[in-house]
Amino acid sequence: MAKGKGKSQRRIKHWKQRSRHAGELDETAPSRQKLSRKEVKLPADRLAAPDENLQDLPKVEGMVVGMFRGGVTVRTGQRQLLCGIAKTFRAPADSTAIAVGDDVTVALTQPQHSDGRKDIDKDRADGMIVSRQPRRTLLIRPEPRSNKRSDEHETDVFHKVIAANMDALMIVASTRQPPLRHGLIDRFLIIAERGELEPVLVINKIDLERPDGQLVADFASLGLHIVTCSAASGEGLDALRGALADKRSVLAGPSGVGKSTLINALVPEADAATRAVRSKDNRGRHTTSAAVVYALPGGGMVVDTPGVRELGVHLDPAQLPWYFPEFEPLAPQCRFNNCTHTHEPDCAVIAAVDDGQLLARRYESYLRILESIEQS
Ligand code: GDP
Ligand code: ZN
Repeated sequence: MAKGKGKSQRRIKHWKQRSRHAGELDETAPSRQKLSRKEVKLPADRLAAPDENLQDLPKVEGMVVGMFRGGVTVRTGQRQLLCGIAKTFRAPADSTAIAVGDDVTVALTQPQHSDGRKDIDKDRADGMIVSRQPRRTLLIRPEPRSNKRSDEHETDVFHKVIAANMDALMIVASTRQPPLRHGLIDRFLIIAERGELEPVLVINKIDLERPDGQLVADFASLGLHIVTCSAASGEGLDALRGALADKRSVLAGPSGVGKSTLINALVPEADAATRAVRSKDNRGRHTTSAAVVYALPGGGMVVDTPGVRELGVHLDPAQLPWYFPEFEPLAPQCRFNNCTHTHEPDCAVIAAVDDGQLLARRYESYLRILESIEQS
């Protein structure tokens, strides 16, 4: 294991150097890297913290739906609360303190009028987050720590939480315009598996072209829930509603496949929700990691959060085979127990690909992803 750790540390070092070259750590630019640090220690005093003892204030439960410098937006019922973080809130050292999807308890600090009217003081929080429930699932992106922090903590990777407590990853692809990229779907399958999310593959635009039956059967053979539909004609949308019902799903997929059109078809008033969140909150603050949370009429929600688009596959190459479940029963038959299934003699995975027992397409994906993570 010690060897593996050294390897990952080298990788992290290289990764850091690369990001520096890419300007990600540029001091002058408000980079994502720096923002994520801010999210660790959200200064509670950005929004005026109340003098009251928070313990005595009424509490509500809610879900985090957005973050901005110095504060967090929490949805409770139909209301959105602008919250700070209580000084007593204990942030974990190795992952984002508060993320979209977190279930939190908020102490209400704004006087609430019985008629629903509030005193709007834009520098005063509606509430303070006093605690967070344990996370059921996590969609994370590992990030190398900045040098400053490395002496403070044992671990060398900070986990930026993209979304917490999600149940499913809604992977949207289209048959045409753009054409379906199965390699990309394979990558999202790994991301879902890592995040312990159920993958739901949505193949949209079937009005333009029916999806290749073999391809659908191949994905189905991986045990994947597949919905084929058309946002344009409405075909398959009931099946999609069924697949998403009562779940918290995260939206993924390349641009142009019809994600927004699908959401508009599923959620009345989706347009308004997008506009409201993507611009500014109602007190004119720009949200920095604005997730749009769409409540599905029949229960459940779809979360569209920018971080998902940048999620790559970050794995130790030796772990990659674990994410190809169909390789699993074969791997013990390889001659070497640390077989990478690339060039080794007597590799049972390669043999199974050669005689058609494993999908060549999936094996090619494996090789491509392996190459990409070996370079990182
Ligand atoms: P997004 O980038 O994934 O959000 O994709 P959009 O929802 O913006 O859709 C991209 C384009 O595809 C738009 O011009 C849509 O009108 C179109 N589109 C979306 N769904 C369908 C569909 O089911 N069939 C057809 N023919 N076009 C669609
Ligand atoms: Zn092998």
